[in-house]
Amino acid sequence: RAKTLGKHRFELFDHSMHDLAVGRLNLETRLRNALQNGEFVLHYQPIMHLASGRLAGVEALVRWQKPSGELVYPGDFIQVAEDTGLILPLGLWVLREACRSMACWHEEYPGPAPLTVSINLSARQFAQHDLVSQVGAIIVETGIAPACVRLEITESVSMADSERTIAVLQQLHDLGVRISLDDFGTGYSSLSYLHRFRLDVLKVDRSFVTQLDQCPEGLQIVQTILSLARNLGIEAVAEGVETERHLQILQSLDCDFGQGYYFARPLPASALIALLKDGQHLNTN
Ligand code: C2E
Ligand code: MG
Ligand code: MG
Ligand code: MG
Repeated sequence: RAKTLGKHRFELFDHSMHDLAVGRLNLETRLRNALQNGEFVLHYQPIMHLASGRLAGVEALVRWQKPSGELVYPGDFIQVAEDTGLILPLGLWVLREACRSMACWHEEYPGPAPLTVSINLSARQFAQHDLVSQVGAIIVETGIAPACVRLEITESVSMADSERTIAVLQQLHDLGVRISLDDFGTGYSSLSYLHRFRLDVLKVDRSFVTQLDQCPEGLQIVQTILSLARNLGIEAVAEGVETERHLQILQSLDCDFGQGYYFARPLPASALIALLKDGQHLNTN
């Protein structure tokens, strides 16, 4: 009897492994088709200047909008896109589309300061030998002011091969773009690299911001990250600002910028444009 059960369980396991593999293969094919058919869209989440309450910029976040209208979030496809290399053409599309849109909005809705556009770069994209020339070509092609472009890398990207990372970041700086370190605190940054990478922006991961009002340690961690950024002359963005209380605490800690559901969810381009037309981004509190 034990033997039967054992066999049964083995088969179950086998089937699920098979389903998983087939599922991934299907997903890869469907993602490839989706890219060809133009089914990816960007949503834009506002990033606010906390002292003035002004809209400072947006982060471009990719979604797969199926013909049925269903939206698929990056958590459900970015990893497969990474594993299959599809992230390279997808990432290039994101870069071009985000820069093209922002260049257009700069012209149509000029504000006191041009909005920044933050774009996520995956590890695999960063490893491409021609990344810098791709970025350079897109800047020329779209006419975007390079100082408004913020490329978001994560600690895993930056630590992999530090000598190359330093060289590539230098070349990206030479193009005039800015570099943000995303999800800061979740990886294994060597503090000395923070300085050597000459980062412009440090994004405090949502997991820390959530803990701001949960325990004294939560507050101290954010405070420590913010003073680290300040001492290095790096701007700080708090991710995952969800409540008025989070905002108050971040303001009291002199955090430069905030991003999160409290201000706005990631918006389709049409909704962001409506906000820009309203001139809401010109309001100060
Ligand atoms: P991320 O770069 O850290 O982006 C922030 C994520 O947090 C977004 O999820 C955003 O919707 C979510 N978020 C923002 N504010 C809040 C909040 O107040 N509360 C909560 N609970 N969540 C908040 P999203 O759009 O699902 O993206 C997830 C991740 O997928 C991104 O994390 C980024 O790592 C990756 N990603 C998104 N777009 C791209 C892309 O174009 N290229 C690459 N390589 N990765 C991307
Ligand atoms: Mg990001
Ligand atoms: Mg992030
Ligand atoms: Mg994050």
